[in-house]
Amino acid sequence: MIKRVLVANRGEIALRIIRACHEEGLEAVAVYSEADRLAPHVRAAETAVLVGPPPAAESYLDISKLIAAAKATGCQAIHPGYGFLSERAAFAQAVGGAGLVFVGPPASAIKTMGDKTEARRRMKAAGVPIVPGITTPLRDAAEAQREAARLGYPVLLKAIAGGGGKGMRLVEAAGEIESGFQAAQSEAQKAFGDGRLYVEKYAVRPRHVEIQVLADTHGRVVALGERECSIQRRHQKLVEEAPSTAVTPALRRRMGEVATAAAGAVGYVGAGTIEFLLAPTGEFHFLEMNTRIQVEHPVTELVYGVDLVREQLRIAAGEPMRVRGGGGGGTLEPRGHAIECRITAEDPWNDFLPATGVVQYLRVPGGPGVRWDGGVEAGNEVTLFYDPLLAKLIVWGETREAAIRRMRQALRELVIVGLPTSQAFHLRVMDDADFRRGALDITYLERVGPRLLGAEAAPPPAVMRAVAVTAALLADDRRSAGRVRPVEDGRAGVLSPWEQMARREGLRE
Ligand code: ADP
Repeated sequence: MIKRVLVANRGEIALRIIRACHEEGLEAVAVYSEADRLAPHVRAAETAVLVGPPPAAESYLDISKLIAAAKATGCQAIHPGYGFLSERAAFAQAVGGAGLVFVGPPASAIKTMGDKTEARRRMKAAGVPIVPGITTPLRDAAEAQREAARLGYPVLLKAIAGGGGKGMRLVEAAGEIESGFQAAQSEAQKAFGDGRLYVEKYAVRPRHVEIQVLADTHGRVVALGERECSIQRRHQKLVEEAPSTAVTPALRRRMGEVATAAAGAVGYVGAGTIEFLLAPTGEFHFLEMNTRIQVEHPVTELVYGVDLVREQLRIAAGEPMRVRGGGGGGTLEPRGHAIECRITAEDPWNDFLPATGVVQYLRVPGGPGVRWDGGVEAGNEVTLFYDPLLAKLIVWGETREAAIRRMRQALRELVIVGLPTSQAFHLRVMDDADFRRGALDITYLERVGPRLLGAEAAPPPAVMRAVAVTAALLADDRRSAGRVRPVEDGRAGVLSPWEQMARREGLRE
């Protein structure tokens, strides 16, 4: 019987899971590092346990500390969220070994899918079409050379332990294999402690389309349609939507059947995602499976009317999933359209350089069909210890067009002062002609980025400019604290940043 769940994560996903626990009638225990004392997820839980200093390796990634915290607070289960330990088979195993329930798939499924060549072998055996390429680790650059020649250039060298787009090298000609191999190997070694590589054919302008699956311990596996995730930067997703403009009901059924077969082949339980590359011809190939809840899960929730995190909790408790329908291949049909923008602390006008600073002011958008999955509030400091995701802004509309309009409105309402964010970039995407036509593939940002962010692009809308200026001035303000301004009513004080903004913009003398 699960009554209390330790949430082994931080930021927006920790808060999201804590809310789901409460809705399921469960208590939640948060964990936090010294850098997150003021984080909202800490207060949202019934109990919070300090697990260590800011570096993740000494806090959110420390398996023994997390299990000790769960034991000390009387938890029966641990939810890993995404990132951190969520895809470490050793963690799932340790949680089980401590007599606790891991909210996720069996450790064996994590292990199989975490090794990309093993996953490719298993998927191939299960009849799942995989991206053309090898299914065993490369021994050296010479073997890479031979395999690449067989596949035909361009090819992609990929880390077997890969994730987050790391350890990946595009090689366009034979002369670049040697250096590409060395670079990918050392990057993979650094990122994963495993430098092994494999090679696959580089697909020309495919879309990244993934299928959400849900499997319970009562033998049901369903596919909750697709998410379109082609808007990426350095293989990292920025904007996601459901459904995809490229997926017809027939294709959705086919992809759903393949995805449920893939999950079945590894004895999957819980929420998982099968990622595919979808060619313009409608052909699709297995890329990888993510054995956890994903960042972009809300777009699926909005078009299917499900709560995936609550389903995860029910499934972990051994209950049947609540999702209905999905006869035949187990594929359900979406209703309306949902879009997610990842609001990150990155400066789009400075090559998406991660930004740090204190969130001085935050105004969250609202209204019908607008969802804010946030992890920070005013007063919180954003550091470089963790990933730059501040929040996800998700909207639902009857149609794609309505969803885009709603996202534009919500992005205009959003105000974040104190540090640069990706907000204005997202507004540009919403206004972009290719995006509006749904003409997407994984090279979208490479092609359209300069148009969106370049000097020839129109200046950001006034509200964005004001926010940027205010942010800069707040920084000035701290440096020049004590500067006195004369005011009509006779009071004197530090020049307010808003006042300064107005002056600099020429709105006041
Ligand atoms: P990771 O596990 O590091 O995220 P993935 O295999 O999921 O790596 O790939 C991440 C992204 O890289 C994909 O969404 C896609 O944009 C690109 N990519 C991966 N493999 C290929 C390929 N064979 N051809 C073209 N693009 C690819």
